[in-house]
Amino acid sequence: MTKNISLNLKCPNCGKSLMDKEFPLNDRPSVKLNIETSHERGTIRLCSIYGCYEHVCDFDLHEGEIARFYCPHCNRELKSNKECDTKNCNAPMAAMNLEVGGKVYICTRKGCTNHFVAFEDLATEVRKFYTEYGF
Ligand SMILES: [Zn+2]
Ligand SMILES: [Zn+2]
Repeated sequence: MTKNISLNLKCPNCGKSLMDKEFPLNDRPSVKLNIETSHERGTIRLCSIYGCYEHVCDFDLHEGEIARFYCPHCNRELKSNKECDTKNCNAPMAAMNLEVGGKVYICTRKGCTNHFVAFEDLATEVRKFYTEYGF
């Protein structure tokens, strides 16, 4: 399976798109978020391809540190009630909504690659997801 799925994400709070066409990563619109760590705040852009961990942050992220992510439109934190279940990580997971329904969770620890997609209503959402992305 070599087909890349590009996720179309929006803010769970204000519903606005988080996709930034002006700043593509791997030829796809990137996911633009505000980011805050214990020492700095700025903007981060994540690759929207599911399974790709590439990102561009406008300041240096330290390996292993935990960041907070905020919507660039309403500035509310993109948080969830889940924790990363990777061994020795336990960082909070940030959550964003998929345009087709369901959520994407990403670990907020730099260097940890745990992330997953969750659908509330599996039957319909998966069908929509597969239709939209031609998977
Ligand atoms: Zn928002
Ligand atoms: Zn983690």
